[in-house]
Amino acid sequence: MRVCVGHISAHCDKCGCQDFQPLFAESSNAHEMACFSCGVRTTRRALLMQIAEETVKRAQAFIELSKKARNQPRKH
Ligand SMILES: [Zn+2]
Repeated sequence: MRVCVGHISAHCDKCGCQDFQPLFAESSNAHEMACFSCGVRTTRRALLMQIAEETVKRAQAFIELSKKARNQPRKH
């Protein structure tokens, strides 16, 4: 399954795969997940944090771009 918010999906730090498999550990409610491709373990929370960071990065990049566009001298 993919963990995504809006247009952004979380990806594995190791291999970049965007598919994760939930692990149902009996004593854990941390929503552990494993990368479908390489099996590295993470949590749903960590993946959502990654998406949140990516969202902030994209927003900042967008702001920078619009600042640059505004600061460009106009052509006459
Ligand atoms: Zn992986």
